Formats: sequence, C-alpha cells, structure tokens
Amino acid sequence: EFTKAFPNVADTDYSDKEERERSQQAIQTVRQQIGKTYSPLINGEYITTTQTIDSVNPSNPSEIVGKIGLLSVEQAEQAILAAKAAFPAWRKTPVRQRAGVLRKAAEIMEKRRHELTAWMVLETGKPVREGDAEVSEAIDFCRYYADEMERLEQGYNYDIPGETNRYNYQPRGVSLIISPWNFPLAIPTGMTVASLVAGNCTLLKPAEVSSVIAAKLAEILVEAGIPKGVFQFVPGKGSSVGAYMVKHPDVHMITFTGSQEVGCRIYADAAILQPGQKHLKRVIAEMGGKNAVIVDESADLDQAVAGVVQSAFGYSGQKCSACSRVIVLESIYDVFVPRLVEATRSLNVGAAEDPSTKVGPVIDANAHKRILEYIEKGRQEANLALQMSAPSNGYFIGPTIFTEVSPTATIAQEEIFGPVLSVIKVKDFEEAIKVANGTNFALTGGLYSRTPSHIQKAQDEFEVGNLYINRGITGAIVSRQPFGGFKLSGVGSKAGGPDYLLQFLEPRAVTENI
Ligand code: GLU
Repeated sequence: EFTKAFPNVADTDYSDKEERERSQQAIQTVRQQIGKTYSPLINGEYITTTQTIDSVNPSNPSEIVGKIGLLSVEQAEQAILAAKAAFPAWRKTPVRQRAGVLRKAAEIMEKRRHELTAWMVLETGKPVREGDAEVSEAIDFCRYYADEMERLEQGYNYDIPGETNRYNYQPRGVSLIISPWNFPLAIPTGMTVASLVAGNCTLLKPAEVSSVIAAKLAEILVEAGIPKGVFQFVPGKGSSVGAYMVKHPDVHMITFTGSQEVGCRIYADAAILQPGQKHLKRVIAEMGGKNAVIVDESADLDQAVAGVVQSAFGYSGQKCSACSRVIVLESIYDVFVPRLVEATRSLNVGAAEDPSTKVGPVIDANAHKRILEYIEKGRQEANLALQMSAPSNGYFIGPTIFTEVSPTATIAQEEIFGPVLSVIKVKDFEEAIKVANGTNFALTGGLYSRTPSHIQKAQDEFEVGNLYINRGITGAIVSRQPFGGFKLSGVGSKAGGPDYLLQFLEPRAVTENI
C-alpha cells in the first residue's frame, strides 16, 4: 500500500529530438545574454555597489557569465532593517497567499526550465541533464513546501471539556540563507522558499561563483509577487558581510549548506548573544560527507558498477551526496575493480554544454588546485588505478580512482569534493560496516547486496542520513527521499521532508478556560 505520493514534476525527456534542440537553443540564447551586471535587491530596489566580482564559465574561464555587485556592510545593515520592518505584515499574510507566491515561482521556473538549465551549464559547469534535474527539484521544493505550510497551518487541537488547547506555529523573524554553488538553483530555492512560506523575512546570500543563477532566482521570486523587504538578495563577501549578518542581533536564524569548516564557524558565531539580542539563533547546517558504497559478494555487479560510477563522478563528484569511497569485500575485489575502472574510462570528459559530456569541469581554480593536491597525496598513500586525461583550457580534472586505499588514509577520510574515488578492500561485511562508519560524517551511504541479513544490518548500523540499497546514492527526490545527515554532516533535519519547515517556525500553545 502506497501513501498518496507528492506529484514530483518530470524532468525533460532528452530522447525527444525537439527537447534536445530547445535545450541547445537555450544555451545559445543565454550565451547572448552573458556578461551583464547583477545587483543586490534591498527593500525592493536593485542597488548600486562599489565592488563587483566576475562569475566565469568553469568550462572556459575566459567567458564571463556575469558580474555581481557585492554588498557593503552598511548595505547589509539596511537589508536587515528592511527585513525587520517588513516582518509584521508578512507574518500576518495568510498562508494561502504566501504559498501562492511559491506556486507562482514554480510555474515560472517550469516555463523557463531550459533557460535556467543553460545558466547552470554556463555558470557552474553542470552537464545539461543534471541541470535539468535540478530545475525539477527547485520546482518540487516550491510546491512541496507550499503544501507543507498549509498542512502545518492547521495546527493541533487538544481541547477537553471546559478548556480549549490550540497548538500552532508562528514564524521566527529575520532569516538568513547562505547557499552553496553545487546545486546553484535547487538548494537556494529550497532553503529560501521554506523560510518565506513559513512567514520569515528572508535574505539570500549565494556562493559567489553561482551568483548569477541566484540572481535569476531573485528575479523569479519578485515576478511571483514577493513583497519588498520580505525577500532580499544579498550577495557579498562571506568573510565580512556574511559574518556581519550571521552575528547581527536582529537575525533569528541562519540556514546554511556548504563546507564543514564554514558551517562550524557559523554555528559558533551564531551562538554568541550580541548586545540587544533577545533570542537565541537557530542554525540549520548541511555540511560535508565522505560517503561510502559497500559492495558485497552477493551484489549484482553490473548494477553496482553503474551505481558507483554515477554516484562518484556525476557533477565531477561535487555533490555532498557523492560516493567517494567504495568498500569492497575481498572475495569479489579482483572482479569488481577492473570493471569499475573500465566503466569509468568510458565517461566523456568535456565542456558542460556538450550533450555527450558526462563529467564537466570542477567549479574554479581553487577547487582545481585543491583536488590535484589530494590526487598527489593519494599517489603517496595508495595505488593509482586510473587518472583520466582532461581538456586543459578549463578547470577539468579527469576521473581518478585509487585502489588498495587504507580506511584511515587522508583520501579516505577528508572530503575532496572532486572526481576522486577511493577503493577499500575489507575481509567481511562486519568490517565493511565498521569502515563505512569510520569517518566524521554521516550523510549518504549505499549497499549493493542480495543478502537479507546484510541489508538488515546496514539498515540498523550504517550511520547515514540517507541510506540507498541497490541503487546510486545521489539524486534525492523531494518528499520521496528527504535529504540530510548527522554527525559532522549537519544539523537540522531533512530538506524536502515533513520536518523541515518546523525549523523555520516557533510552536505555541494557547489554552483558554471556557
Ligand atoms: N540532494 C542532493 C543529492 O541527493 C545533494 C545535495 C548536496 O550536495 O548538498 O544528490
């Protein structure tokens, strides 16, 4: 028996020639629009800034996709004041109306699907199909959280004779969103619209390298009718303006997705009570992973190879959910590894806009350098089984596989966030689980097995927020696989799940003696 499923929107069917043409056409059209300047949106106005940065195409860094105006600290202060001023009216705006803005935004995204994908392809080097799936996720977040808020608005009724007891939720206030570049549309959309529909005045600070797409999201929310001051787009330097907003006494909550290092700093900064602050801040932080897939002796190896390759190298390994360790039982190790290497070798590495590309570039020069350093480290720690060549004009890194990796090696412990996979050999399933759990993270994990006792043991003992059995470990779908982890992978529950909105709300109980 199935519960009534949320109707997730369908991805583009690229087997349809017309859709493929539309998609390529959209890339051409968007390319004619690159190089424009995008400004912060404060209290309903696009404001001028003294500083701008360039956002470039990682497949071809000489191509400037857009210029982004960076907020000053004074302008950030104005934004927070505007948010505070807009709050009383937004919190009283009926949920139906707030949800209506989200549904309208979803409709606009659906109409602009190919164009939004094209911006992602050009600004973040995301291959076309993966960009398209992300537009679907963004649309789903809007519709799902709209439905969810309407559900929560009902509250609870605990009346007894002579006494009414009503349990309801109210918004928290001013809410700051700090979004990552790796899901440049879906994640900022999800975090922002959840906050907004719950009735919070919301500021979105995007990762610098994906600011143009975030600016498109801002345009969409404005077009969908978000009132001024309720939503504001606040691109700025994380270390100065971001930190200023995190520490601001009028900010009630911070929702972050990104690295463990930054997440931990935000958590610490937010904990300090500032002069004049009359509340404690809530922090939701989705951080890293060092996700493992276990392959046991009963696994369907065709399925396992395909699932691991997709999970490890999709979007060049730059998903928090990506597989970066594959833990293989000794008895099948020598069969599995050559097949894994061969399957990986068949991936096309190239510019994200090329429809045949499976592995595009990594995000920027820093990432490129950092990943190459890890590969160098891996050469000292393990056996290099594959390092594919890659074009040299963009930030490309060929898929790389290390074998005979020790579970405690640096490359088996630290999040690399690139197309680098460590293969670890273990003697039995017991050890596989132990190795899988032997990192600081607990985000996603996978198991390929046809042994019921192993499947059960993984369910009971594999420490991850999202466990996938006999399938890949990326690509969580809104409401079907609420996404998020624990340990040092994050704090705050599951995006796209039934508890997510609760974090943006303050529950109240009202009792009346009658
Ligand atoms: N939700 C994405 C997935 O399941 C990962 C999100 C992330 O990288 O933060 O693949």
